[in-house]
Amino acid sequence: MTDHSPGPRRAPGELLRRLRLRHPTDPVTHVERVPARAGEPVGWPGWAPEELRAAFARRGVTAPWRHQAEAAELAYAGRHVVVATGTASGKSLAYQLPALSTLLADPRATVLYLAPTKALAADQLRAVAGLELDGVRPATYDGDTPRAEREWIRRHSRFVLTNPDMLHHGILPGHAHWSGFLRRLAYVVVDECHTYRGVFGSHVAHVLRRVRRQCARFGRTPGQALAGSRGTPTFLLASATSGDPAAAAGRLTGLPVTAVTEDTSPRGGVTFALWEPPLLPPTDSSVDADLVQVRRSALRETADLLADSVVEGVRTLAFVRSRRGAEVVAANARRSLDEAVPGLGDRVAAYRAGYLREERRELERALLHGDLLGLASTNALELGVDLVGLDAVLICGWPGTRASLWQQAGRAGRSGDEALAVLVARDDPLDTYLVHHPEALFGRPVEATVLDPANPYVLAPQLACAAHESPLTPADLDLFGEGAKEAVDSLVEAGALRQRPTGWYWRHRERPEVDLRGEGGAPVCVVEVSTGRLLGTVDGGSAHFLLHTGAVYLHQGVSYVVDSLDLADGCALVHAEEPDWSTHARDVTSLSVVSVRSYVDAGPVGLFLGEVDVTSQVVSYQRRRIATGEVIDTRPLDLPARELRTVAVWFTLSPESLTAAGVEAADVPGALHAAEHAAIGLLPLMATCDRWDIGGLSTALHPDTEAPTVFVYDGHPGGAGFAERAYGTAAAWLRATRDAIAECGCETGCPSCVQSPKCGNGNNPLAKAEAVQVLDVVLTNLATVTGPEAGVDPEAGVDPGRGEVLPRQGDRVARPAQPAGGPPA
Ligand SMILES: [Zn+2]
Ligand SMILES: [Zn+2]
Repeated sequence: MTDHSPGPRRAPGELLRRLRLRHPTDPVTHVERVPARAGEPVGWPGWAPEELRAAFARRGVTAPWRHQAEAAELAYAGRHVVVATGTASGKSLAYQLPALSTLLADPRATVLYLAPTKALAADQLRAVAGLELDGVRPATYDGDTPRAEREWIRRHSRFVLTNPDMLHHGILPGHAHWSGFLRRLAYVVVDECHTYRGVFGSHVAHVLRRVRRQCARFGRTPGQALAGSRGTPTFLLASATSGDPAAAAGRLTGLPVTAVTEDTSPRGGVTFALWEPPLLPPTDSSVDADLVQVRRSALRETADLLADSVVEGVRTLAFVRSRRGAEVVAANARRSLDEAVPGLGDRVAAYRAGYLREERRELERALLHGDLLGLASTNALELGVDLVGLDAVLICGWPGTRASLWQQAGRAGRSGDEALAVLVARDDPLDTYLVHHPEALFGRPVEATVLDPANPYVLAPQLACAAHESPLTPADLDLFGEGAKEAVDSLVEAGALRQRPTGWYWRHRERPEVDLRGEGGAPVCVVEVSTGRLLGTVDGGSAHFLLHTGAVYLHQGVSYVVDSLDLADGCALVHAEEPDWSTHARDVTSLSVVSVRSYVDAGPVGLFLGEVDVTSQVVSYQRRRIATGEVIDTRPLDLPARELRTVAVWFTLSPESLTAAGVEAADVPGALHAAEHAAIGLLPLMATCDRWDIGGLSTALHPDTEAPTVFVYDGHPGGAGFAERAYGTAAAWLRATRDAIAECGCETGCPSCVQSPKCGNGNNPLAKAEAVQVLDVVLTNLATVTGPEAGVDPEAGVDPGRGEVLPRQGDRVARPAQPAGGPPA
């Protein structure tokens, strides 16, 4: 650093130029100028009452943006609609306008609003209550609502804000108390609907069908204001931008949904830089004899960028994934600033979860006034602190979804001013791919929100809940969709339902116990040992990975260490502690094919979608230093094996095709293993999932396929839609996988391409160059069937009625039963 005090504030382009100059090789792989956009205001719809227009005007809204008005018009006409536009584009107004207009026009109508979190519901309550509309009486109804107030809310509130869990556990089972409300229900608002994905999303899809069912049962009688609506309330959904939001919303609600995706709200200009930390010179690893090559850690790189920005007088917010990571970034930035100018480090802070509201406001004030110039924070900021109008935002590692990326980047930029956003890539195949493929970030979204309501592990328990609420009729089978008849039959067979001429009846006195987030096994409670406080629950399958003895467990950004895991009691005892290491569970896995649902025959290459049985056992865990990633040690664990029946996508190649491509038999296991790792790392590009939700297995000879095979499977019983999405987009997915490996600058494979942080085999063997050859063979042969970049032809494979699926598993290379190059496929 050459400056000795914060200089004058720099323009973003100038700041970026200076940041780049400090590096011997340019770490910036791409600069995207996102231009400022003027908003497109339109007039209020004719049906919007004067009272409501005046209320919005008091809030500073004098006219809706065009996309808000379009969505509102559709909804008011009784069309189900999803608004899928960017952060801060005013999605709330798009649903408030038709919903509140209807409540004002029809004094009997009601609205049900669903949010994924209580905090968001509280926020929306403030917004609606702040409009001070007569007779609407908005109220939240969730687990915190005092008993004494509940009856009043059921009788008098016409705008009830709740969450899917409360709907499932409280409102639907107690539907008799809600008959008046449901009979008059005009709209169901589903906010942040992209959060309903995977198994949880599949459950929520059926909770919504149960709402529709009870509305119909109570003889819903829409008032005159509800011109277009018939037997079902109108669904109004809000989503982050994603691939095909109409299809995702349609799967969630079971109804045809129209999407409004063009954002016409104004925004400031942003200069967005993609930043790849440099590769460090190879060093001898203490663990094995190979040369290990890694990139400079994203945490260190972000700390340097934060310090450099502060020196330039730029108010900068750094987003880091863990609280511990945020503290490392802040501490490193402070240290280098103090070395440059004693005292300058005081202008940087770490944001901690658990701040009181007043403390948060003070922090906001200090940052906006420039007393504080740099702040490192976890993503917890997304839901809490109101920090906007910063000069620069640093994003340490791909935050998982495009929605989160833009939410974080959106913190930068004051009205009319340019801002700078920098995405710093971590050592991870997806991060690597994204910084080299800006079109995947700035072009049309491809990641889709996937869920699979037909999953029998979700459908059967949901039908049991529905039957408990009121007997199932044949018409209900249509409502619950594909697989419902089979699920009902299985419930009859299991003795849970009794079939009578009038329908299927729940046979037990007590309610079925169904956890919307549960997936395989009862959830495990996380209890703080000193206070007995219940911190939260983790599903049974993940508990082995996340809550084993000695695991470092993060809860809302706070770090705990697990003292013991008692699987019989379903309880993990933890204490608060922030060690400077993280823990990584490792497992061993075997897999057998149960059935093939669909396949593509591409000569020497086969692509399959089907059911598999996976047996896995968490056998040990590694402790690694947070700052450097260095492995401290590996400790054994004594946990039982778990069985999982789920959905997988897999490809096979003939040994001859591999030989012809120049892959030597000895390199086949490493090539397949490397391709598997990268393929898992890249799947979140196609579907909003976490690579930790997916498992994989590769082998030079699998007994069921009798060929070299790579499996990628869903970590949830019955699947959650991810493997199916992978199958449906196989060509694009594997193309991205191939490019991510080929374009990585390392010699023999690194965490940015083919190494996996959760490998059950210690990342051995891996053959990077041969992995590219394997994928080339797959892509070339698939292209002869499906075309060069297309997904799999739906005719050839995916049943379009079903959603897409992923698992929570480690990955593992199965040892070949005999040397590679065995029998032909
Ligand atoms: Zn690499
Ligand atoms: Zn592996």
